[in-house]
Amino acid sequence: MLFKELASYYEQLDSVSSRLKMIEILTELFKRAKPDEVSNIVYITQGVLAPPFEGIEFGMAEKMVEEAIAIATGFTKGDIEKEYKKQGDMGKAAQLIKEKSKLKRLSSKEFAVNEVYETMRKIAATSGEGSKDTKIKMLANLVAASTPLEAKYVVKYPLNELRMGVGDATVLEALSVIGTGDRKFKSELENAYNLCSDLGLVAESIAKGGEKAIRNFKITLFKPIRPSLAERLPTAEEILEKMHGKCEVEQKYDGFRCQIHKQGHRVKIFSRRLEDTTHMYPDLVEAVQKEVKAESVILDGEAIAYNEKTQEFLPFQETIQRKRKHGIEEKIEEMPLKLFAFDVMYLNGENYMVRPYHERRETLRKILKGYTLLVSGSITATTPKQLENYFEESIENGLEGIIAKELNAQYIAGARKFSWIKLKRSYKGALSDTLDLVIVGYFLGRGTRAEFKFGGLLCATYNKKRDMFETISRIGSGFTEKQMVELKEALDKIKVKAKPPRVDSLVEPDFWVSPRYVVTIKADEITKSPMHTCGRDGGEFGYALRFPRLVGEEEAIRKDKSVEEATTTKEVIEMYSQQKRVSVGSQEEN
Ligand code: AMP
Repeated sequence: MLFKELASYYEQLDSVSSRLKMIEILTELFKRAKPDEVSNIVYITQGVLAPPFEGIEFGMAEKMVEEAIAIATGFTKGDIEKEYKKQGDMGKAAQLIKEKSKLKRLSSKEFAVNEVYETMRKIAATSGEGSKDTKIKMLANLVAASTPLEAKYVVKYPLNELRMGVGDATVLEALSVIGTGDRKFKSELENAYNLCSDLGLVAESIAKGGEKAIRNFKITLFKPIRPSLAERLPTAEEILEKMHGKCEVEQKYDGFRCQIHKQGHRVKIFSRRLEDTTHMYPDLVEAVQKEVKAESVILDGEAIAYNEKTQEFLPFQETIQRKRKHGIEEKIEEMPLKLFAFDVMYLNGENYMVRPYHERRETLRKILKGYTLLVSGSITATTPKQLENYFEESIENGLEGIIAKELNAQYIAGARKFSWIKLKRSYKGALSDTLDLVIVGYFLGRGTRAEFKFGGLLCATYNKKRDMFETISRIGSGFTEKQMVELKEALDKIKVKAKPPRVDSLVEPDFWVSPRYVVTIKADEITKSPMHTCGRDGGEFGYALRFPRLVGEEEAIRKDKSVEEATTTKEVIEMYSQQKRVSVGSQEEN
């Protein structure tokens, strides 16, 4: 496929306002592509070069891209800068400048999608001394050979601005249609995706091997499995009831989620966001090499800082100090980690995810007899009292709470299901949990905020079933001045003219933005409101927040969370019903 065709599909995607239409366009696009182009198209459409665990970044700042456009068009950097300020979008600026440029296109050769992708990979791979100029030159060559429309997307890509607002679920639906003719195959595709976390690979598999390849999809060592997540319930009684009267209750450690892959001596550790974080943990890598009795294995666990002298777990605020690029060795001395393994998904060539939890746990005990790597603490509970006592004991030991696990459940990748249920310290009060919300728009500042040109955010939850973002609140407080500047700057880059297709909103902010960033919000209560679409489901009222405010004084944007990891509408509905029960309970006590 020629890049110019892809660019015209992107123009179409940019102009639609419904998700269904989006799926149609994507389906058409995937059908037109050759099987060996589909995976690259998936990456480009999501604005990335590879899945997150490969850690491949473009390494191009705005100024470098401006310089490349200048070289390619004969305009000065000042001209480009001016046009960029005017348009607020580098892609659009490049397109307009190309139209005006008197320099002829470098060659009349039309280039293919895979050629553009390969050049971008080369740009990303160029590092070290003199790499800045080489990168600029490579991009300039591409821009010079582009038509104005191609230039728009060629420029947006390395700036991480080429995300077409297409979510994973939307891509999977479109792939289902090309593979089988209808959208029903999506769940099998999702299973494959859950096993490898690589949407490009799933796309290539269906394009080349059809349904069969997806049904036979296997776990691959060093490609992370999408982690299992926990549901929540407010009381021990409800947890046990949901677990049919018996469950294992594990301690809940508040540290870093670590998915460990080992084959022979080779070890990699992935984060909850599926990034390769091996470099952060030389001590754990060594421990895995020494302490795990298995040739090849995939483990799930939590790493937490531990004070050997006082035998205490350290709070997350301390453990987080291990997240650093430099001075890792000193911190290891000062703050050694323990890794509490709580699951095993793969062992010596065999998929363990399908085995029952109690068996996986047995296996864990057999293969880990370590000093740094331990099996998470647990008891088997058959009464609420046992569960509660263990919860209290865990809190006393400085932990966050417990996670109850269903004894016969499989490992459920990539989903929040009731086979894991958490009970956290903070649950007792009404809405003491925070929400991670997606920014979908912002308001201009008025009064004292006028100078920042920023007056608050329009935030949404993620409705997984609809693959849509539903508004829940306007957030106007809790911002420091620094955060307002940071937000305004980041949001200005992702402003869009109209409501993005995956956003469902009745409120009209001053500016819409592509759903890209997550913020953490605290509120006093979840209420019902006719203003918001969260959980409205066609009815009159949605859910809203009372006294919402931004949490934290550091960076406002949660770089560790993707929008699909934000609080879901389903979670809000559950929190709402739990909150009701808590308040009913406290009234009875009065
Ligand atoms: P939360 O982040 O509050 O949704 O809780 C789920 C997280 O708890 C998981 O992603 C893990 O990082 C962490 N965790 C700590 N201890 C355990 C455990 N024993 N079992 C499962 N997850 C745990």
